[in-house]
Amino acid sequence: MDVAAVRVAAATEQLTELEAFSRQVAGCTKCRLSQTRTQVVFGVGDPDSDLMFVGEAPGFHEDKQGYPFVGQAGKLLDKLLMGIGLDRSRVYIANVLKCRPPGNRDPAPDEIEACESHLFRQIELIRPRVVGTLGNFATKLLSGKPAGITRVHGVEQEVTLGGSRVLLYPLYHPAAALYTPAMLKVLEEDFARLPELLGRAIPEPEPIAAPQLEAVAAAEPEPAVQLGLF
Ligand code: URA
Repeated sequence: MDVAAVRVAAATEQLTELEAFSRQVAGCTKCRLSQTRTQVVFGVGDPDSDLMFVGEAPGFHEDKQGYPFVGQAGKLLDKLLMGIGLDRSRVYIANVLKCRPPGNRDPAPDEIEACESHLFRQIELIRPRVVGTLGNFATKLLSGKPAGITRVHGVEQEVTLGGSRVLLYPLYHPAAALYTPAMLKVLEEDFARLPELLGRAIPEPEPIAAPQLEAVAAAEPEPAVQLGLF
């Protein structure tokens, strides 16, 4: 369906903006993964949630079923959520890539670049307060920094995503913790801080004083938070 057709369908059926956007993304052909996927895996959960998780990419089961985190890693994610008194219907879960890389290989840089606008728009529509990035790919993309998950897990960062201030909270990927008990323990400890982070107010950044503004305008443009990684 093209964009105009999606808009007409949305108006007729009173779809939310997120649902309409999901229909639009379902026909995405921006990268090679559209040729091998079974379907686009857009995201799942409460579109009004304050807490959003972003993983890496759909795997075999996600590609077949159309929902993120339905395999073994998803079962662990459910368990971790239960540990903080939540279930997946109360959070929103998405991935950096919306389509499965063949053989579950790592996302390629050009695939991330092609797909990232979908994720940023999703964040803009959901407006979460806390975004838990699961693993390296989501953490690097959404922090806009190259620091790996081993260094930054469990340390919240205030960032602007989708036009809003959010707490970005890097976490180990559940798939990595599945067979590594020490990593699982760290992941559980990091998860345990989520309720505190959800209760925290995120201050707007200090306004830049006028003379500094001139200096900023004269300087080289800063890389935007939402730039691609590579
Ligand atoms: N399933 C997903 O949906 N995303 C991941 O990153 C891993 C498994």
